[in-house]
Amino acid sequence: MADIIQIDADTWRFEDGFVRFFLLVGKEKAVMIDSGINCPNAADLANKLTDKPVMLINTHGDGDHTSGTAGFDEIHIHPADHTGCEVNVRFPDVKKVDITDGEIIELGDRPLKLIHIPGHTAGSVAILDVNRRVLYSGDSVQTGHIYMFGAKREPDRFEASLDKLIDMEDEYDNIYPSHGDHQIPKDYVRKVKDAWKRVRNGEVSFEMIDLFGSSVKSYTTESCGFYME
Ligand SMILES: [Zn+2]
Repeated sequence: MADIIQIDADTWRFEDGFVRFFLLVGKEKAVMIDSGINCPNAADLANKLTDKPVMLINTHGDGDHTSGTAGFDEIHIHPADHTGCEVNVRFPDVKKVDITDGEIIELGDRPLKLIHIPGHTAGSVAILDVNRRVLYSGDSVQTGHIYMFGAKREPDRFEASLDKLIDMEDEYDNIYPSHGDHQIPKDYVRKVKDAWKRVRNGEVSFEMIDLFGSSVKSYTTESCGFYME
């Protein structure tokens, strides 16, 4: 069960342990962004907050973002995450609808723009709440540790995706990530990129930790952290 916190008249965040997901309501439709780690009733929670039809869009297919998937008829997710992510193993029968880079989802006076940012997973997307100038960044830009170990992570594409978000930084003022602080300023994309470059250049020390049975390198910078091979 998540803690439900209202952000403004038609936006909510759901704090579900160490992960967060969102409900955005427009004049005609609503969107749930992700569905948590321990919240199989996420759709029911959304339907108590709005009488508009609610569609599910996922920032990516990792297990901590998908617990409520079965409560929806379909999940809108980038095709690159149709395989290789936990959502497919746990919810093989839920219809997957492709989302594409640059696609606009219109909620009614509230357009959302989808931005493909591969790296953390191949199908990761950020979601821009265009008029409100808020970027929902998933796991890719945040204050916590970003998971960059395991077969599905792509370090080079991750850096290119951060550049892509920097190139469009005049389109947003704030970032709402899935982990860590619930709101961070737009210059955080640059901070994550700087931290990532220093980690990859060997300029940041690490400690070995055990994570889900794997021994991984844990890097911590003043901006964010990374878990690596
Ligand atoms: Zn996550």
